[in-house]
Amino acid sequence: RTTETSTEKAAERSADCLFCKIVAGEISADMVAESESAVAFKDINPKAPVHVLVVPRKHHADVSALAGASPEALADVVALADQVASDLADGQYRLICNVGPKAGQTVFHAHAHVLAGTQLTGF
Ligand code: ADP
Repeated sequence: RTTETSTEKAAERSADCLFCKIVAGEISADMVAESESAVAFKDINPKAPVHVLVVPRKHHADVSALAGASPEALADVVALADQVASDLADGQYRLICNVGPKAGQTVFHAHAHVLAGTQLTGF
């Protein structure tokens, strides 16, 4: 049974994926919250006073793939984002998901940016 679990976990990871390594604890991050299917940590290059990334534990290349494969995990990402915005700011926030290089996506493990803690302007 332990072996089956390990095999399942290995299949849910993508080799050399930065966020899979953060989820596994192999690369450190400033964790702020977690749930059964997602984790939340501070963005290393913050664009707002609160800039947190919410990341599903299982590997999906982007939010489009996550929505198709596991809508409940996507709902969990949004719920954790909402919780983080209430815990670290006043509950008002912008939630951004970049899908594909044209949108500016650079890390190909699904994630949502939570921006909060100031008056946000523009896009
Ligand atoms: P973009 O780089 O255009 O924001 P993404 O939507 O793919 O594209 O976001 C990736 C985010 O991951 C960036 O905001 C980046 O600062 C952040 N990031 C990269 N490496 C780390 C890390 N080790 N820890 C925390 N955040 C990271």
